[in-house]
Amino acid sequence: MKHISLLGSTGSIGVNVLAIVRQFLEHYKIVALAAGTNVQLLAAQIIEFQPELVSVCDEQRAAGLAGLLPYDCPTRIVFGEEGNNLVATLPKAQITVSAMVGAAGLLPTLAAIAAGKDIGLANKETLVMAGRIVMAAVLKKGVRLLPIDSEHSAIFQALEAGQKKDLKKIILTASGGPFLGMSREQLQMVSRAHALKHPNWTMGRKVSIDSATLMNKGLEVIEAKWLFDVEVEAIEVVVHPQSIVHSLVEYQDGSVLAQLGIPDMRIPIAYALSYPQRLPLQLPSLNLAQCANLQFQEPDNDSFPALQLAFSAIRRGGVLPAVLNAANEVAVEAFLAAEIRFPQIAETVARTMAIVNEGSDTSLSDILQADGEARWVARRLVQESLF
Ligand code: MG
Repeated sequence: MKHISLLGSTGSIGVNVLAIVRQFLEHYKIVALAAGTNVQLLAAQIIEFQPELVSVCDEQRAAGLAGLLPYDCPTRIVFGEEGNNLVATLPKAQITVSAMVGAAGLLPTLAAIAAGKDIGLANKETLVMAGRIVMAAVLKKGVRLLPIDSEHSAIFQALEAGQKKDLKKIILTASGGPFLGMSREQLQMVSRAHALKHPNWTMGRKVSIDSATLMNKGLEVIEAKWLFDVEVEAIEVVVHPQSIVHSLVEYQDGSVLAQLGIPDMRIPIAYALSYPQRLPLQLPSLNLAQCANLQFQEPDNDSFPALQLAFSAIRRGGVLPAVLNAANEVAVEAFLAAEIRFPQIAETVARTMAIVNEGSDTSLSDILQADGEARWVARRLVQESLF
């Protein structure tokens, strides 16, 4: 029986983690959950999975949650950053699944690593912001960092077929999002509702917008660099609109290995939970004849500049990836609040990167400071664009 602490239980990944646990109750037990503001769904999860401990974002929501539970419910309720850390490090947990949205995932994930937990990583921002520090901590504690991001799970699986020293290239696939093929002019006019409607995957709002701008792929390039310890030059991105080939690796003999599957997040989640075993998920088989044409094309860097911004941030290094990420979080929120247009998301990120001071990525406090500064600058830029 594997004991799981789940950070981000009410989000899209969290709900799918719980679906796997529900399907394999003989293998997994949820011991702790953390969520943000959705106390209704969290209450239902508590009643179903009976964790020891849960955390919500603040004291008010903790009280609201308690009111939704039976009076004799033994689950302990905590809140805030401290609450998240308690969930991430609960002694009983063997694996902590990090599935919170955005920068908020970094500190609890680091706390879980320090407490010796294996990590199922869905929160890519953790590695984008502090990849050097996180990977050093993983090495020091001897824990496993198992990717849940579908592309990284694909690469992780393809890497099992060879040796690291023989790896030549990592090829990340990108769906291209809902605006694939559009010009810069057309992108000026796109709606929020359209941006949120991903063609292949059902995902949360933040990652849906990131997919539409290609920033998601940029963040994944940075994530891959740290996770697989490769040079940025050895990472390529190819647009593959059908999301069937989840990513590929090329070895130095010219062999290219890919992982394919239907676009269903339960596949990478299950592999992270069951590694190195595989669970009988009973999903529909991939029918290649039905998929007909699998297409591949170069990313359009003119319409979607976010991807190159991410490449530039990780090449220059230091705190710049954290700055890129923070500015992007602010800009995505502003877009969702109808404060800026779609192309202004990447513009805000580019301008913030040019303003915020560079610094080293060996100090967590420098990274957090750069994150805060970038948020402040990006908000100012959004405000200015309103007038
Ligand atoms: Mg992904």
